[in-house]
Amino acid sequence: MSDKDASAVVLADEEGIARAAKVLAAGGLVAVPTETVYGLAARADDDAAVARIYAAKGRPGFNPLIVHVRDAEQAARYGDFSGPVLQDIAGARWPGPLTLVVERRQDAGLAEAVTAGLPTVALRAPAHPVMRRLLEMVDFPLAAPSANRSGFISPTSPEHVLASLDGRVDLVLDAGPTEAGVESTILRIGPGDEWHELRPGPVDVAALYRHYHDREMPGAPAAEGITAPGQLASHYAPGKPVRLEASEVAPDEFLIGFGAVAGDCTLSAAGDVNEAATRLYACLHEAARSDRPRIAVAPVPDEGVGRAINDRLRRAATPPD
Ligand code: AMP
Ligand code: MG
Repeated sequence: MSDKDASAVVLADEEGIARAAKVLAAGGLVAVPTETVYGLAARADDDAAVARIYAAKGRPGFNPLIVHVRDAEQAARYGDFSGPVLQDIAGARWPGPLTLVVERRQDAGLAEAVTAGLPTVALRAPAHPVMRRLLEMVDFPLAAPSANRSGFISPTSPEHVLASLDGRVDLVLDAGPTEAGVESTILRIGPGDEWHELRPGPVDVAALYRHYHDREMPGAPAAEGITAPGQLASHYAPGKPVRLEASEVAPDEFLIGFGAVAGDCTLSAAGDVNEAATRLYACLHEAARSDRPRIAVAPVPDEGVGRAINDRLRRAATPPD
């Protein structure tokens, strides 16, 4: 499609999902709802289709994509889940907002660009009913990063998708706002049972570790120097300066509030981190659109999904290179 055409938007009912399946089968791009954020999906077994994702997002080629599957059984066609813990975790936590990075199978048949040349592959079975139905209708897995231009704020509604990618995606499946609000937790468990949280998210890795080992996870829970090329310092950027931990606001600042700090957009007046996660990107989008040149953000507690929120906020506050 040419850049000038508007993208088609369809309701995510059975007919809309069937149309999306056709577009994907033909190698097209579809923006799809997941329980975390909207994804920009293409068939993961097709080089040209995957290349379109990178082109539409302006995403650097060294940043690998997450491959979305129906369930653990399908995942095992692409990655090595032979470790007992891995199989168990996939069985227990999927479908859900947990991405597992495992050794890629030699016979995976995935487009090379999906894994950006790494020997590992990131897999997840999403829980959103629309995405699940879509994955049932097609006979290939879906590569799907967030449906926004690379480095910018992730989309939690079809409007956000269009604001960033209108004309660059063939079809948008409209299922309203998403629920979890921040991207999936990414967990790498190495062959010797080494655990690395590559990206904090809705699933608590430290709690999962305790469940399987009956002790605290060793080392820092956050990723450090791990093969996560996409964990860029600057990401989710609203295009203006962001000041964190703000308890008061300057006249030229748009304030994103939390708890007792009421803002122009408030993440959660009740001080609930889960509600805050759901609203994070909507508030960042509103702040980006506002006529004020700066953004200030109230402190958010670093507990539960609050860790994921602070991770995204730190990177939103880091200026691009
Ligand atoms: P997203 O941008 O939400 O699609 O998430 C993709 C992120 O998953 C990348 O930026 C990487 O950080 C991570 N990822 C994907 N594949 C791998 C992999 N094979 N090894 C390590 N991290 C990966
Ligand atoms: Mg993204």
